[in-house]
Amino acid sequence: MRIGIPKEIKDHEYRVGVTPAGVSALKAHGHEVLVETLAGARIGFSDALYEAAGAMITGRSEVYGCDMVIKVKEPQPSEVALLREGQVLFCYLHLAPEPELTRGLLERKVIGIAYETVTDAQGNLPLLIPMSEVAGRLAVQTGATALQIANGGSGVLLGGVPGVAPGKVVILGGGASGINAAKMALGLGAEVTVLDINLARLRYLDDVFGMRVKTRFSEPAAIAELTREADLVIGAVLIPGQRAPRLLTRDMIKAMKPGSAFVDIAIDQGGCAETSRPTTHSDPTYVEHGVVHYCVTNMPGATARTSTLALTQATLPLALELADKGCARALLDNPGLREGLNVFRGQVTHRAVAADLGYAF
Ligand code: NAD
Repeated sequence: MRIGIPKEIKDHEYRVGVTPAGVSALKAHGHEVLVETLAGARIGFSDALYEAAGAMITGRSEVYGCDMVIKVKEPQPSEVALLREGQVLFCYLHLAPEPELTRGLLERKVIGIAYETVTDAQGNLPLLIPMSEVAGRLAVQTGATALQIANGGSGVLLGGVPGVAPGKVVILGGGASGINAAKMALGLGAEVTVLDINLARLRYLDDVFGMRVKTRFSEPAAIAELTREADLVIGAVLIPGQRAPRLLTRDMIKAMKPGSAFVDIAIDQGGCAETSRPTTHSDPTYVEHGVVHYCVTNMPGATARTSTLALTQATLPLALELADKGCARALLDNPGLREGLNVFRGQVTHRAVAADLGYAF
Protein backbone atom coordinates (compact mmCIF):
# COMPACT_ATOMS: atom_id res chain seq x y z
CA MET A 1 0.00 0.00 0.00
CA ARG A 2 1.12 3.61 -0.61
CA ILE A 3 0.94 5.53 2.64
CA GLY A 4 1.17 9.31 2.96
CA ILE A 5 2.32 11.20 6.06
CA PRO A 6 1.54 14.91 5.78
CA LYS A 7 2.96 17.79 7.78
CA GLU A 8 0.30 19.03 10.20
CA ILE A 9 -0.99 22.55 9.52
CA LYS A 10 -3.13 23.30 12.59
CA ASP A 11 -1.83 26.21 14.70
CA HIS A 12 1.40 25.21 16.46
CA GLU A 13 0.86 21.55 15.66
CA TYR A 14 4.19 19.77 15.31
CA ARG A 15 3.10 16.20 16.01
CA VAL A 16 3.46 13.78 13.13
CA GLY A 17 1.41 10.68 12.29
CA VAL A 18 4.32 8.22 11.89
CA THR A 19 7.88 8.40 13.27
CA PRO A 20 11.00 7.28 11.34
CA ALA A 21 10.86 4.02 13.36
CA GLY A 22 7.25 3.60 12.18
CA VAL A 23 8.35 4.16 8.59
CA SER A 24 10.93 1.36 9.00
CA ALA A 25 8.19 -0.97 10.26
CA LEU A 26 5.85 -0.12 7.37
CA LYS A 27 8.69 -0.58 4.88
CA ALA A 28 9.58 -3.94 6.43
CA HIS A 29 5.99 -5.00 5.72
CA GLY A 30 6.48 -4.07 2.06
CA HIS A 31 4.66 -0.73 1.97
CA GLU A 32 5.69 2.47 0.23
CA VAL A 33 5.78 5.53 2.51
CA LEU A 34 5.69 9.15 1.32
CA VAL A 35 6.47 11.81 3.94
CA GLU A 36 5.85 15.51 3.36
CA THR A 37 8.93 17.72 3.49
CA LEU A 38 9.73 18.85 7.07
CA ALA A 39 6.80 16.85 8.54
CA GLY A 40 8.72 16.01 11.73
CA ALA A 41 11.57 18.51 11.59
CA ARG A 42 10.41 20.61 14.57
CA ILE A 43 10.52 17.61 16.93
CA GLY A 44 13.82 16.12 15.87
CA PHE A 45 12.60 13.83 13.07
CA SER A 46 14.47 15.34 10.14
CA ASP A 47 13.81 14.50 6.49
CA ALA A 48 17.20 12.72 6.53
CA LEU A 49 16.00 10.40 9.33
CA TYR A 50 12.81 9.59 7.42
CA GLU A 51 14.83 8.99 4.25
CA ALA A 52 17.22 6.71 6.12
CA ALA A 53 14.17 4.76 7.32
CA GLY A 54 13.10 4.27 3.71
CA ALA A 55 10.55 7.05 3.17
CA MET A 56 10.31 9.17 0.05
CA ILE A 57 10.30 12.87 1.00
CA THR A 58 7.87 14.73 -1.19
CA GLY A 59 5.25 17.49 -1.52
CA ARG A 60 1.78 17.75 0.01
CA SER A 61 -0.22 16.82 -3.09
CA GLU A 62 1.77 13.58 -3.62
CA VAL A 63 1.23 12.64 0.05
CA TYR A 64 -2.52 13.23 -0.30
CA GLY A 65 -2.52 11.12 -3.46
CA CYS A 66 -1.73 7.94 -1.45
CA ASP A 67 -4.12 5.06 -0.68
CA MET A 68 -4.00 5.81 3.05
CA VAL A 69 -3.16 9.06 4.81
CA ILE A 70 -1.99 8.77 8.42
CA LYS A 71 -1.97 12.03 10.31
CA VAL A 72 -2.72 13.43 13.76
CA LYS A 73 -5.36 16.15 13.78
CA GLU A 74 -8.65 16.37 11.95
CA PRO A 75 -8.16 17.74 8.42
CA GLN A 76 -8.35 21.50 8.08
CA PRO A 77 -10.41 22.91 5.16
CA SER A 78 -7.43 23.10 2.77
CA GLU A 79 -6.60 19.47 3.60
CA VAL A 80 -10.19 18.28 3.06
CA ALA A 81 -9.95 19.68 -0.46
CA LEU A 82 -7.02 17.31 -1.16
CA LEU A 83 -8.80 14.11 -0.06
CA ARG A 84 -10.17 11.76 -2.68
CA GLU A 85 -12.83 9.09 -3.04
CA GLY A 86 -12.09 5.74 -1.39
CA GLN A 87 -8.96 7.02 0.35
CA VAL A 88 -8.40 5.82 3.92
CA LEU A 89 -7.92 8.66 6.39
CA PHE A 90 -6.53 7.50 9.76
CA CYS A 91 -6.36 10.33 12.34
CA TYR A 92 -8.39 12.14 15.02
CA LEU A 93 -11.65 13.45 13.56
CA HIS A 94 -13.87 14.70 16.46
CA LEU A 95 -16.82 15.05 14.08
CA ALA A 96 -19.71 15.49 16.56
CA PRO A 97 -19.12 19.24 17.09
CA GLU A 98 -17.98 19.77 13.44
CA PRO A 99 -20.89 19.58 10.96
CA GLU A 100 -18.90 21.37 8.25
CA LEU A 101 -15.92 19.02 8.45
CA THR A 102 -18.31 16.06 8.43
CA ARG A 103 -20.02 17.40 5.31
CA GLY A 104 -16.62 17.87 3.67
CA LEU A 105 -15.54 14.30 4.39
CA LEU A 106 -18.86 12.95 3.13
CA GLU A 107 -18.55 14.95 -0.08
CA ARG A 108 -15.00 13.67 -0.63
CA LYS A 109 -16.32 10.10 -0.02
CA VAL A 110 -13.31 9.13 2.08
CA ILE A 111 -13.09 6.23 4.53
CA GLY A 112 -12.48 8.08 7.79
CA ILE A 113 -11.24 6.04 10.76
CA ALA A 114 -11.17 8.26 13.84
CA TYR A 115 -8.56 7.52 16.47
CA GLU A 116 -10.87 8.72 19.25
CA THR A 117 -13.58 6.08 18.73
CA VAL A 118 -11.37 3.01 18.10
CA THR A 119 -11.87 0.56 20.98
CA ASP A 120 -9.92 -2.40 22.34
CA ALA A 121 -11.17 -5.75 23.65
CA GLN A 122 -11.94 -4.18 27.04
CA GLY A 123 -13.94 -1.34 25.48
CA ASN A 124 -11.20 1.23 26.23
CA LEU A 125 -10.19 3.94 23.75
CA PRO A 126 -6.56 2.94 23.11
CA LEU A 127 -5.81 5.69 20.57
CA LEU A 128 -7.35 8.45 22.67
CA ILE A 129 -5.78 7.42 25.98
CA PRO A 130 -2.17 8.45 25.18
CA MET A 131 -3.20 11.99 24.22
CA SER A 132 -5.59 12.21 27.15
CA GLU A 133 -2.69 11.27 29.41
CA VAL A 134 -0.68 14.13 27.95
CA ALA A 135 -3.59 16.60 28.04
CA GLY A 136 -4.50 15.68 31.62
CA ARG A 137 -0.95 16.25 32.80
CA LEU A 138 -0.62 19.46 30.79
CA ALA A 139 -3.94 20.79 32.12
CA VAL A 140 -2.48 21.27 35.58
CA GLN A 141 0.66 23.01 34.28
CA THR A 142 -1.48 25.24 32.11
CA GLY A 143 -4.02 25.91 34.84
CA ALA A 144 -1.26 26.79 37.32
CA THR A 145 0.14 29.28 34.81
CA ALA A 146 -3.31 30.76 34.17
CA LEU A 147 -3.62 31.47 37.90
CA GLN A 148 -0.62 33.79 37.81
CA ILE A 149 -1.45 37.50 38.09
CA ALA A 150 0.16 38.47 34.77
CA ASN A 151 -2.15 36.03 33.01
CA GLY A 152 -5.33 37.43 34.57
CA GLY A 153 -5.37 34.88 37.38
CA SER A 154 -6.05 35.28 41.09
CA GLY A 155 -2.41 34.88 42.13
CA VAL A 156 -2.91 31.53 43.88
CA LEU A 157 -0.01 29.05 44.00
CA LEU A 158 -1.63 25.61 43.75
CA GLY A 159 0.78 23.98 46.18
CA GLY A 160 0.50 26.74 48.80
CA VAL A 161 3.51 27.09 51.14
CA PRO A 162 3.97 26.26 54.82
CA GLY A 163 1.35 28.25 56.71
CA VAL A 164 -0.70 29.01 53.58
CA ALA A 165 -3.39 26.64 52.31
CA PRO A 166 -2.97 24.99 48.89
CA GLY A 167 -5.25 25.75 45.97
CA LYS A 168 -8.38 23.71 45.22
CA VAL A 169 -8.53 21.75 41.96
CA VAL A 170 -11.84 20.32 40.77
CA ILE A 171 -11.76 17.79 37.93
CA LEU A 172 -14.94 16.96 36.00
CA GLY A 173 -14.51 13.40 34.71
CA GLY A 174 -12.14 10.84 36.21
CA GLY A 175 -11.18 8.94 33.04
CA ALA A 176 -7.82 8.93 31.27
CA SER A 177 -7.29 12.69 31.23
CA GLY A 178 -8.96 13.26 34.60
CA ILE A 179 -6.81 10.75 36.49
CA ASN A 180 -3.65 12.21 34.95
CA ALA A 181 -4.72 15.71 35.93
CA ALA A 182 -5.36 14.42 39.44
CA LYS A 183 -1.87 12.86 39.64
CA MET A 184 -0.20 16.12 38.63
CA ALA A 185 -2.36 18.30 40.86
CA LEU A 186 -1.63 16.02 43.82
CA GLY A 187 2.05 16.12 42.92
CA LEU A 188 1.95 19.91 43.19
CA GLY A 189 0.32 19.65 46.60
CA ALA A 190 -3.12 20.94 45.64
CA GLU A 191 -6.39 19.83 47.23
CA VAL A 192 -8.07 17.68 44.57
CA THR A 193 -11.69 16.60 44.00
CA VAL A 194 -12.79 14.45 41.05
CA LEU A 195 -16.41 14.16 39.92
CA ASP A 196 -17.73 11.38 37.71
CA ILE A 197 -21.05 9.74 36.96
CA ASN A 198 -19.44 6.30 36.94
CA LEU A 199 -19.42 5.00 40.51
CA ALA A 200 -17.05 2.16 39.67
CA ARG A 201 -14.59 4.76 38.43
CA LEU A 202 -14.95 6.80 41.62
CA ARG A 203 -14.25 3.64 43.67
CA TYR A 204 -11.18 2.97 41.54
CA LEU A 205 -9.90 6.52 42.08
CA ASP A 206 -10.51 6.19 45.79
CA ASP A 207 -8.54 2.93 45.82
CA VAL A 208 -5.55 4.13 43.78
CA PHE A 209 -5.20 7.51 45.46
CA GLY A 210 -5.79 6.14 48.95
CA MET A 211 -8.26 8.90 49.85
CA ARG A 212 -5.78 11.67 49.06
CA VAL A 213 -8.23 12.64 46.29
CA LYS A 214 -11.84 13.42 47.21
CA THR A 215 -14.46 11.93 44.93
CA ARG A 216 -18.02 13.16 44.33
CA PHE A 217 -20.84 11.88 42.20
CA SER A 218 -21.31 14.29 39.31
CA GLU A 219 -24.65 16.08 39.43
CA PRO A 220 -25.46 19.77 39.00
CA ALA A 221 -25.67 20.67 42.71
CA ALA A 222 -22.28 19.09 43.48
CA ILE A 223 -20.69 20.77 40.45
CA ALA A 224 -22.11 24.17 41.50
CA GLU A 225 -20.96 23.74 45.11
CA LEU A 226 -17.42 22.64 44.25
CA THR A 227 -16.70 25.01 41.38
CA ARG A 228 -17.75 28.02 43.54
CA GLU A 229 -14.82 27.29 45.85
CA ALA A 230 -12.31 26.08 43.24
CA ASP A 231 -9.13 27.81 42.10
CA LEU A 232 -8.76 25.55 39.06
CA VAL A 233 -11.52 23.59 37.31
CA ILE A 234 -10.54 21.02 34.69
CA GLY A 235 -13.12 19.72 32.19
CA ALA A 236 -12.22 16.10 31.37
CA VAL A 237 -15.56 14.45 30.53
CA LEU A 238 -16.38 12.30 27.55
CA ILE A 239 -19.26 10.31 26.15
CA PRO A 240 -17.49 8.61 23.22
CA GLY A 241 -18.38 10.01 19.82
CA GLN A 242 -20.86 12.50 21.26
CA ARG A 243 -20.68 16.22 21.82
CA ALA A 244 -19.39 16.89 25.35
CA PRO A 245 -22.15 17.39 27.96
CA ARG A 246 -22.45 21.05 29.01
CA LEU A 247 -21.95 20.52 32.73
CA LEU A 248 -20.90 24.04 33.68
CA THR A 249 -23.63 26.58 33.10
CA ARG A 250 -22.91 30.26 32.58
CA ASP A 251 -24.31 30.91 36.07
CA MET A 252 -21.86 28.41 37.60
CA ILE A 253 -18.97 30.15 35.83
CA LYS A 254 -20.24 33.54 37.07
CA ALA A 255 -20.28 32.15 40.61
CA MET A 256 -16.63 31.08 40.47
CA LYS A 257 -13.99 33.13 42.29
CA PRO A 258 -12.55 36.07 40.30
CA GLY A 259 -9.26 35.06 38.70
CA SER A 260 -9.90 31.33 39.03
CA ALA A 261 -9.00 29.19 36.02
CA PHE A 262 -10.90 26.75 33.83
CA VAL A 263 -9.06 24.36 31.51
CA ASP A 264 -11.54 22.63 29.19
CA ILE A 265 -9.78 19.54 27.86
CA ALA A 266 -13.12 18.37 26.42
CA ILE A 267 -13.18 21.35 24.03
CA ASP A 268 -12.28 19.03 21.13
CA GLN A 269 -15.73 17.47 21.58
CA GLY A 270 -17.37 20.90 21.82
CA GLY A 271 -16.47 21.80 25.42
CA CYS A 272 -18.18 21.14 28.76
CA ALA A 273 -19.07 24.73 29.77
CA GLU A 274 -21.58 27.13 28.25
CA THR A 275 -18.76 29.68 28.12
CA SER A 276 -16.25 27.43 26.28
CA ARG A 277 -15.04 28.28 22.80
CA PRO A 278 -12.03 26.77 21.01
CA THR A 279 -8.71 28.59 21.30
CA THR A 280 -5.26 28.03 19.79
CA HIS A 281 -1.71 27.72 21.10
CA SER A 282 -1.03 31.19 19.65
CA ASP A 283 -3.83 32.76 21.69
CA PRO A 284 -4.77 30.12 24.26
CA THR A 285 -6.78 31.96 26.93
CA TYR A 286 -9.61 34.43 27.34
CA VAL A 287 -11.32 35.80 30.43
CA GLU A 288 -15.08 35.49 30.78
CA HIS A 289 -17.00 36.43 33.96
CA GLY A 290 -13.59 36.87 35.63
CA VAL A 291 -12.56 33.25 34.97
CA VAL A 292 -9.46 32.57 32.84
CA HIS A 293 -10.52 30.01 30.21
CA TYR A 294 -7.97 27.79 28.42
CA CYS A 295 -9.68 25.86 25.60
CA VAL A 296 -6.97 24.69 23.20
CA THR A 297 -8.26 21.86 21.00
CA ASN A 298 -4.84 20.32 20.38
CA MET A 299 -3.19 20.59 23.80
CA PRO A 300 -0.72 17.71 23.22
CA GLY A 301 0.75 19.72 20.33
CA ALA A 302 2.46 21.81 23.03
CA THR A 303 4.66 18.84 23.87
CA ALA A 304 4.75 17.45 20.36
CA ARG A 305 7.78 15.21 20.75
CA THR A 306 6.51 13.32 23.80
CA SER A 307 3.01 13.30 22.30
CA THR A 308 4.15 11.90 18.94
CA LEU A 309 6.06 9.07 20.60
CA ALA A 310 3.09 8.30 22.88
CA LEU A 311 0.54 8.44 20.07
CA THR A 312 2.40 6.48 17.44
CA GLN A 313 3.25 3.59 19.76
CA ALA A 314 -0.52 3.08 19.98
CA THR A 315 -1.46 3.80 16.34
CA LEU A 316 1.31 1.94 14.51
CA PRO A 317 0.04 -1.63 15.13
CA LEU A 318 -3.36 -0.66 13.70
CA ALA A 319 -1.78 1.24 10.80
CA LEU A 320 0.14 -1.94 9.98
CA GLU A 321 -3.07 -3.99 10.23
CA LEU A 322 -4.86 -1.63 7.81
CA ALA A 323 -1.95 -1.59 5.39
CA ASP A 324 -1.23 -5.35 5.48
CA LYS A 325 -4.79 -6.62 5.18
CA GLY A 326 -6.30 -3.73 3.25
CA CYS A 327 -8.93 -1.52 4.86
CA ALA A 328 -12.00 -3.72 4.22
CA ARG A 329 -10.46 -6.93 5.59
CA ALA A 330 -8.92 -5.15 8.57
CA LEU A 331 -12.29 -3.58 9.47
CA LEU A 332 -14.11 -6.89 9.10
CA ASP A 333 -11.59 -8.76 11.24
CA ASN A 334 -11.20 -6.20 14.03
CA PRO A 335 -14.42 -4.96 15.70
CA GLY A 336 -12.51 -2.37 17.76
CA LEU A 337 -11.03 -0.84 14.62
CA ARG A 338 -14.50 -0.89 13.07
CA GLU A 339 -15.72 1.26 15.98
CA GLY A 340 -13.32 3.87 14.64
CA LEU A 341 -15.09 4.03 11.28
CA ASN A 342 -16.88 7.39 11.34
CA VAL A 343 -17.48 8.03 7.63
CA PHE A 344 -17.48 5.57 4.73
CA ARG A 345 -17.83 6.70 1.12
CA GLY A 346 -20.44 9.37 1.78
CA GLN A 347 -22.19 7.85 4.83
CA VAL A 348 -21.81 8.56 8.55
CA THR A 349 -21.04 5.17 10.08
CA HIS A 350 -20.72 5.92 13.81
CA ARG A 351 -23.97 5.84 15.76
CA ALA A 352 -23.15 8.62 18.25
CA VAL A 353 -21.77 10.94 15.57
CA ALA A 354 -24.81 10.33 13.36
CA ALA A 355 -27.19 10.97 16.27
CA ASP A 356 -25.47 14.22 17.27
CA LEU A 357 -25.34 15.60 13.74
CA GLY A 358 -28.77 14.36 12.63
CA TYR A 359 -27.65 11.82 10.02
CA ALA A 360 -29.50 8.56 9.40
CA PHE A 361 -27.67 5.52 10.78
P1 NAD B 1 -12.46 9.05 29.25
O1 NAD B 1 -13.55 8.32 28.54
O2 NAD B 1 -11.25 8.27 29.67
O3 NAD B 1 -13.03 9.74 30.57
C1 NAD B 1 -14.18 10.53 30.54
C2 NAD B 1 -14.85 10.40 31.87
O4 NAD B 1 -15.93 11.33 31.88
C3 NAD B 1 -15.44 9.01 32.13
O5 NAD B 1 -14.93 8.47 33.35
C4 NAD B 1 -16.94 9.28 32.22
O6 NAD B 1 -17.62 8.45 33.14
C5 NAD B 1 -16.95 10.74 32.66
N1 NAD B 1 -18.20 11.43 32.46
C6 NAD B 1 -19.10 11.34 31.44
N2 NAD B 1 -20.14 12.16 31.68
C7 NAD B 1 -19.90 12.79 32.85
C8 NAD B 1 -20.58 13.75 33.64
N3 NAD B 1 -21.79 14.21 33.27
N4 NAD B 1 -20.00 14.19 34.77
C9 NAD B 1 -18.80 13.72 35.17
N5 NAD B 1 -18.10 12.79 34.49
C10 NAD B 1 -18.65 12.34 33.34
O7 NAD B 1 -12.09 10.29 28.34
P2 NAD B 1 -10.69 11.03 28.24
O8 NAD B 1 -9.80 10.18 27.40
O9 NAD B 1 -10.26 11.46 29.58
O10 NAD B 1 -11.06 12.29 27.35
C11 NAD B 1 -11.77 13.40 27.89
C12 NAD B 1 -11.89 14.47 26.83
O11 NAD B 1 -10.60 15.05 26.61
C13 NAD B 1 -12.35 13.96 25.46
O12 NAD B 1 -13.22 14.90 24.87
C14 NAD B 1 -11.08 13.89 24.67
O13 NAD B 1 -11.29 13.95 23.27
C15 NAD B 1 -10.44 15.14 25.20
N6 NAD B 1 -9.04 15.37 24.85
C16 NAD B 1 -8.75 16.64 24.48
C17 NAD B 1 -7.46 16.99 24.18
C18 NAD B 1 -7.18 18.42 23.81
O14 NAD B 1 -6.14 18.68 23.22
N7 NAD B 1 -8.02 19.38 24.17
C19 NAD B 1 -6.45 16.03 24.20
C20 NAD B 1 -6.78 14.73 24.60
C21 NAD B 1 -8.08 14.40 24.93
